[in-house]
Amino acid sequence: MASPLLSYSEAAEQVHRFILALAEQSQIPADPVLEALSSSKQVEIAPLLSAGGRVLAEGIRADRDQPPFPRSTRDGFACRAAEANTNQFLFLSGHVRAGETPSSALGIGEVWEIMTGAPVPEGADAVFMVEHSEISSNFVRLVAPRTIAPGENIVPRGAEAHAEDLLIPPGVRLGPAQIALAAQCGYTELAVAPRPKVAILSTGDELVSVADSPGPSQIRNSNSPMLAALVSSAGGEPIVLPTVPDQEAPLDAAISNALSADLLLITGGISAGRFDLVEDALTRAGARFFFGGVAIQPGKPVVFGQLPRAGQLPLPFFALPGNPISSAVTFQLFAAPLLAALGDDSTPLPRFGLAHLTGEWRGKPGLTRFLPAWCDFGLAPEVRIIPWQGSGDIAAFARSNCFLVVPPDAAEIKDSSIVQILLP
Ligand code: AMP
Ligand code: MG
Repeated sequence: MASPLLSYSEAAEQVHRFILALAEQSQIPADPVLEALSSSKQVEIAPLLSAGGRVLAEGIRADRDQPPFPRSTRDGFACRAAEANTNQFLFLSGHVRAGETPSSALGIGEVWEIMTGAPVPEGADAVFMVEHSEISSNFVRLVAPRTIAPGENIVPRGAEAHAEDLLIPPGVRLGPAQIALAAQCGYTELAVAPRPKVAILSTGDELVSVADSPGPSQIRNSNSPMLAALVSSAGGEPIVLPTVPDQEAPLDAAISNALSADLLLITGGISAGRFDLVEDALTRAGARFFFGGVAIQPGKPVVFGQLPRAGQLPLPFFALPGNPISSAVTFQLFAAPLLAALGDDSTPLPRFGLAHLTGEWRGKPGLTRFLPAWCDFGLAPEVRIIPWQGSGDIAAFARSNCFLVVPPDAAEIKDSSIVQILLP
């Protein structure tokens, strides 16, 4: 396919447009047959303890007000602020611990001892800290010159959430905070989106599987395990297919075997070489191509398209260049956002950050470059480029934790400049 080279942002826009179209398809049940076949509406039930990393399919609602009672945020004394601010001794008439319900209201001129997390008795409007108090037998005072404002150290009932409030909408990937909130609301299990099935097909005559001993000119297939790891961490379910040689018939067969997946990733065989047969095989399978080549390095030959299949929505695919770092970068840039969308995950991908460059970079402008780099993610992140032998240098890749992004117009980046990094 002799299609023009897109810029990185044009290619990202194409993927984004595809994602928007997907969302529209799932909203308009135009074709009842396709609707019934569409897997995006299905829901799985995950136990709370193993729901981390999954995408919420049904929203989380508060089962009661949070906090369910006015909660003291300190160990100290529940008081009326106006009385405490006289700094006079007040009568210590009661106490309430976390988990207890106050037996009565706070009387005039009185304070109650109270613990963090305990319900504040009626009548009290503030809690002064034990550290700021002086106790003398049954009397306590707020030590001058300290004063306290009404409401201080109390979270009012319902300030965090009201019963029935939608606290987390569907489409949110569950991290520790969302799991804690689900636990607070009494969910022992959660409705989550199914993981999209991602078929991974590595191609190349030179490849042997990891368990085999490579001949003198053969190499082990490292892309399939790498992509499986990338797919898993992006929320997909990897399905690693057998490696295919650079031959038409096995390629055709492998592609037609992959049609039941939600996304297909093919690596290798898309450059200009005489044995790069993947695009032709995709064409024979009826592919529609959205792009074939992006002005990036590594990863320039990357192809994005979809394959028709009977009675089902078309299968989106990416054909990724065979060089391992090219495959990884193009997965992160283009496949990960689509994979997230297929799994109903609303997280915008890819993620970029800023860091100060330690060292400098010089090179030819024209391509958006993604250079393996190491970032110290401290308060002021500092990134340095990892020396590498090009996009086949897996050892260098394994020493990196991000990619430095070189904009297409740059011929030089000076030491200490603020640069963009592609986050894992
Ligand atoms: P290709 O994209 O097929 O031209 O391959 C580019 C380079 O990546 C070649 O050096 C291949 O040997 C290497 N390569 C291709 N596929 C894989 C793979 N699955 N695992 C490791 N290296 C690969
Ligand atoms: Mg090849």
